[in-house]
Amino acid sequence: MREWILLWQWQEMAKRKEELNNSLRYLPELAEIKKIKRESEKVQMALAQAEEELERLQQEMEQVSEEIEGMAQRVKRVEAELYSNRARPGRELKSLQQSVTDLKRKQRVMEEKWYGLLERREEVGERHRQLTEQMARLKADGRRLYENWRRRRAEVEEEIKQLEEQMASIDVFLDPRIRALYEEMRAFLGPDVVVRLKGGVCSGCHTAQPVDVVRELAAGQVVRCERCGRVLIPPEEEENRYLH
Ligand SMILES: [Zn+2]
Repeated sequence: MREWILLWQWQEMAKRKEELNNSLRYLPELAEIKKIKRESEKVQMALAQAEEELERLQQEMEQVSEEIEGMAQRVKRVEAELYSNRARPGRELKSLQQSVTDLKRKQRVMEEKWYGLLERREEVGERHRQLTEQMARLKADGRRLYENWRRRRAEVEEEIKQLEEQMASIDVFLDPRIRALYEEMRAFLGPDVVVRLKGGVCSGCHTAQPVDVVRELAAGQVVRCERCGRVLIPPEEEENRYLH
């Protein structure tokens, strides 16, 4: 009987250990870290796009600036010619005036384009700034979650280590033959091989046991549930007399 009570203790620890091992895989921080990772990837992509656009806008603005500069110089040249004191036919004069007007109009259009690009660059710049901030927040959250996860994991691993030590200390007292029998039963009964008899009922399959079984157990014999075949041990309050 004592061996089976010890096996029950061993079994409950093994169950707890299994539970802890499972919990390691499903620590809530792990799911949150994954979520943050996905979000970070999205933000990173948006940041790269914004950077690319900023660079493109910068180049375009430089190009437009150069065009404006070129036009201003052409206007200057035509005006210089126009206002030189050289005598020229009225038709030529008119054509020069027309090109000044045309060039100035084109210049204004280009200037408007330049301002449009500037506005867009400010918008994208603002978006870039917000994304950068968001990225920093995500990174900070990620680090905090990772630290929490590491701490929780360390706690669980410590508990598992303690359980393993306790299980090993029980193992020392067990007859290897009973231990082997237990393992054999576990293969088809599952994790609960040894169960308590509570109020004459098997806690494995919840079947009321015949009086004989209850009496034999009270007499310290090893009995198994007639229905499910699990080994029965007495209720907690009666267990001490078998352990000492
Ligand atoms: Zn049973």
